[in-house]
Amino acid sequence: MSITHDIKRHLKLGCLFLFLFSGISCAEQNTQKVTADKVLIKARVYTVDVNNPWAEAVAVKNGKIIFVGSNREAQDYIAKQTKVIDLQGRMVVPGFQDAHVHPLEGVSLTTFMGCDLIPLSDTETNPETWIDELKKCNKIDFPHDWILGGGHAIQDVLKLKRMPKLVLDEAFPDKPAAFMEKSSHSMWVNSKALEIVGITKDTPDPQGGLIFKDPQTGEPTGLLSDSAGDELMHKALQRSPKLQQARYEALMLSQDFMAKYGLTSITNGRVYWERGNLEPWLRAEKEGTLKARSIMALWAYPHLQDDFQLPKLKSMYRDDRDSLLRLSQIKFYSDGVVINNSAAVVEAYNHLIHPFAKPFGLNYFTEKRLAKYITELEKVGFDAHIHGLGDRAVKESLNAIESAQKANSKLKLQTRHQITHVALARKEDIPRFAKLNVTANIQINHDTGDYGTGVELDKKIDYKHVHIDDPDYWFKIVGDVDVEFSPVHPIIESGGRMVFSSDWDVSSIDPIVSIQNAVNILDGKMSKDEAIATAIKGYTLNPAYIMRHDDMTGSIEVGKYADLVVLDSNLFELPKQKIKQAKVLLTLLSGNETYRAKEYR
Ligand SMILES: [Zn+2]
Repeated sequence: MSITHDIKRHLKLGCLFLFLFSGISCAEQNTQKVTADKVLIKARVYTVDVNNPWAEAVAVKNGKIIFVGSNREAQDYIAKQTKVIDLQGRMVVPGFQDAHVHPLEGVSLTTFMGCDLIPLSDTETNPETWIDELKKCNKIDFPHDWILGGGHAIQDVLKLKRMPKLVLDEAFPDKPAAFMEKSSHSMWVNSKALEIVGITKDTPDPQGGLIFKDPQTGEPTGLLSDSAGDELMHKALQRSPKLQQARYEALMLSQDFMAKYGLTSITNGRVYWERGNLEPWLRAEKEGTLKARSIMALWAYPHLQDDFQLPKLKSMYRDDRDSLLRLSQIKFYSDGVVINNSAAVVEAYNHLIHPFAKPFGLNYFTEKRLAKYITELEKVGFDAHIHGLGDRAVKESLNAIESAQKANSKLKLQTRHQITHVALARKEDIPRFAKLNVTANIQINHDTGDYGTGVELDKKIDYKHVHIDDPDYWFKIVGDVDVEFSPVHPIIESGGRMVFSSDWDVSSIDPIVSIQNAVNILDGKMSKDEAIATAIKGYTLNPAYIMRHDDMTGSIEVGKYADLVVLDSNLFELPKQKIKQAKVLLTLLSGNETYRAKEYR
């Protein structure tokens, strides 16, 4: 083959490549008349592309990036009809990708769960003082027959001198009422709610849950932890036309909210498909109202029979990567949360919050059942998105993935499983993330220590004296154990892939808050610039990998979708403690505006 022939062949292939990814024909390219729909110029473009990390301009055509480079070269793509955006030195980054967020829950307090306890619990921590305010919730026009709300802390309810349900009975004597704790891992309910769902002193605890009972009489107290609370909500929130409309409206609110924070891809961290939470997403896709690429992590219900649930889940798999809605992950809870003693731990808890609490936590899904599900579902194409919070849960989740890998080894599957939260991990399990290609998806934007603070303990804690109002309460529940707390740096150091996410509405949705926290966690372990780059990658290209669209999004490269964010300042130039002051000015999804800040009009 002659050299010229070879060059011609390469040109042809390059041309084909450009056509495939941008829709520009070769004729257009050859005549040098490729004009962009939109060109961003005079920007500080941080691309997250290692080969070409910084640029000045980006050109977009048909929703995709056709050029990344200098202001001068960008002129070639500008014609009369091209929209030119002069960014005057502002920063452009790839659209943020939140790999674990709860959009419906995030806005549910303003829609279908309207009795908001946040203002009450923020001002006064004794629920006895909330009764008069709670009574006002009787007037809310709910789209269902329950009084629903949430936002309190379980610690406050545990402080009550009488059974928690009795406080709610005073406010709501006739209607069932249920309030979701802010971590979503427990419900506080009244007597009517218990009666309707048939929970009595003889009701056994469900798998992965606990019905708090009076130690003397065995009577349910009105606190339901983990799957016990989920099952009650399942009955309270069964679909009806009115509720489905409310859910759709909630979803629409969440779309604007997420766009405002620069999100162009999200993973819905828990889709209760049985109670109707998937339908609003399907409707939004049909109506073209989604504002982010949305991956659904379908909930694996602990209480459903495997021979019903597994085929059902398999039948729902959908992964057209150019569609804004994809049903390609399964959400498992291995365990619960520390604050309820429901996180699964290797060493017994130092402090039990209730006489019936389990010293080693609990499992929604046991290791064996998890392995069975992953083995079956990864064959269809699903990736596992496992809530593993305690060190035992992290270990068992890794074990389950490993055993699925062994069982399916002949199939040579390219799995992209993840474990989310990872608040506690044993040292020996840290290198297993890289070894098994399991991504750690960690939240570091919490104000409280509920999920691990991401800050290493450098002080002596008196583990013997546990008090509920103590700032070290979370650590005192766990006890003095030999674990890594929120092991961001250890996992990165061992070669593991790190993703940061919000878990909104459990905590702030703002990616820039996480980026600042990540930079501060990594401070001293790498340079500031490396830390910022690691943090941005943890909110762009790495989550794109676990959403299986890193070849199409996650960095600013020719051929990828023009999912872009304009920031008012350059994150690399801000002091470490001031990064979170940066604001999103503009969000583009496939080149189309999904958000523009008021100050940027
Ligand atoms: Zn979550």
